[in-house]
Amino acid sequence: MSDPASLLHAPVRPGWDCLGCGAPWPCDAALDAVALRFADDPLGLAAYVKLCYWDCLDDVIKNVDLVEHDVPSRVRDRLQSTLARIALTS
Ligand SMILES: [Zn+2]
Repeated sequence: MSDPASLLHAPVRPGWDCLGCGAPWPCDAALDAVALRFADDPLGLAAYVKLCYWDCLDDVIKNVDLVEHDVPSRVRDRLQSTLARIALTS
């Protein structure tokens, strides 16, 4: 289920920057990998978005001094944009 691109552009927690390129996660490469992975499974992507959002919230709660509070919203919003893109092309 995991491809090399998604492993390379994985989030480094608790800060949620990209392992591969250092950009805020999900970077463009991660979004492309997510879109490819869930191209035929928008419900799976919706569940993935929710799981990532919860993980971000958990990191913010546990690392309040280390994590910016807008990280969960950033992760959710960028992943949801991929979900919307997939839903429009399905
Ligand atoms: Zn990246």
